[in-house]
Amino acid sequence: MKYKTGDQAELGIYECSRCNSAVAIDMKKQILPICPNCNHNSFTKVEEEDVHNKHRKNVEVPESLK
Ligand SMILES: [Zn+2]
Repeated sequence: MKYKTGDQAELGIYECSRCNSAVAIDMKKQILPICPNCNHNSFTKVEEEDVHNKHRKNVEVPESLK
């Protein structure tokens, strides 16, 4: 599922659809930002099983979601 900058997003990890940078949405920050790496505005939600998948090197799980 795709999300855009400014969307209200559920808690979790979102991955930029251009550069694959991970953005974490937590209780304090529930609106998707612009990608901090490339300023892109489209994200894909990373499912929980993917977060724990070591193949996704770019995803850093914040302490609040562990
Ligand atoms: Zn990006």
